[in-house]
Amino acid sequence: MQTDISGGEEPPSDHRLQPLKEFHSAARGYWRDVSDSDWNDWRWQLKHRITSAEQLQRFLPTLTPEEYAGAKLANHKLALAITPYFFNLIDLADENCPIRLQVVPRLAETHTAPWEMSDPCGEDSHSPVPGLVHRYPDRVLFLVTDRCASYCRYCTRSRLVSNASGYDFHPEFDKQIAYVASHPEVRDVLLSGGDPLLLSDDKLAFLLGKLRAIPHVEFLRIGTRIPIFLPQRITPELCAMLKQFHPLFMSVHANHPRELTTEARAALGRLADAGIPLGNQSVLLKNVNDDATVMKALVQKLLICRVKPYYLYQCDLIAGSAHLRASVAKGLEVMEQLRGHTTGYGVPTYVIDAPGGGGKVPINPEYVLCRNAGRVLIRNYEGKIFEYTENADGTPRCKPKKIEEPDLCKC
Ligand code: SF4
Repeated sequence: MQTDISGGEEPPSDHRLQPLKEFHSAARGYWRDVSDSDWNDWRWQLKHRITSAEQLQRFLPTLTPEEYAGAKLANHKLALAITPYFFNLIDLADENCPIRLQVVPRLAETHTAPWEMSDPCGEDSHSPVPGLVHRYPDRVLFLVTDRCASYCRYCTRSRLVSNASGYDFHPEFDKQIAYVASHPEVRDVLLSGGDPLLLSDDKLAFLLGKLRAIPHVEFLRIGTRIPIFLPQRITPELCAMLKQFHPLFMSVHANHPRELTTEARAALGRLADAGIPLGNQSVLLKNVNDDATVMKALVQKLLICRVKPYYLYQCDLIAGSAHLRASVAKGLEVMEQLRGHTTGYGVPTYVIDAPGGGGKVPINPEYVLCRNAGRVLIRNYEGKIFEYTENADGTPRCKPKKIEEPDLCKC
């Protein structure tokens, strides 16, 4: 697909000079001659996505051989697609731009480490009908599409998303809905994919209506990266439709503070105004957000956008993601710099999705130093140690006190 460009010199790249906490509008860059109505039209954005190595070569003057080769091979694994809007968040001069690392393929993606898997969360083995995953007792994952506005190079569902690797994803909505209806224990349905907000308003309303009509379904959720990749999709009409299906929550996916632009903030505001509680799920990624300053700016900006930072995921062991995976030690270090150092609402839960289908397991820096015979030694964010004692029935034994020199041996 050819993308409209006005030609001429590349737009200036000054992203690194922008303070992380500021909100900026995405530049128009190569698309500066496109009309406002086209630029703000989500269908125009989708139609003009960057989808080939040749387009990347034209638009990204600093494209490396490693990236070009990765882009050439992408359509055999996870397709390349970047909306013009999101592309313009890339610092064109910076080979290690954190936005670029997330969406521009690299050859390293084609290397599978021995510990990596095509389905690290074991979804396929927990799928009673096509497109539905029932892994936890009272909730299901309802996959609606294999398409996304742009493709994240570390996607845990890359086996099916974009349909590049021959997975042949075919959800069967009737069977998925019938499964939910016949399982009264399912009280929570998460629509995901791919990105559910790529469905038309009518199709999405049809699905949500069917699910909402099942009496035991208490709670609906949508997992989406659309407000970040394609905020133009969050139209007033979409919001008006979604608000008919409350309680409806939404999990969005931002990894770096620069993704929270003026446009993304406005889109998230429209969703919040429609009464949709918003949570963010970040993935810990090397050279993207494995840094306390970056993460703190991200969570603080999310709160300004009325989004609760919900999860920080250790990057799943998805095939071809080794070059993007930060260590658990790094994740814990980042968490240590959040807890107590910023608003509690801004602190996500750091989790590892236990490989093979074990589910999400929270991991935290150690704040309980020891717990024995009714004595608990705890450490606060400043490293100060306190003692809390209690009787067998849970009543405190004496006033909690600060310990200058803890005697850990007594525990
Ligand atoms: S938006 Fe979500 S489903 Fe789509 S590629 Fe990114 S991580 Fe995967």
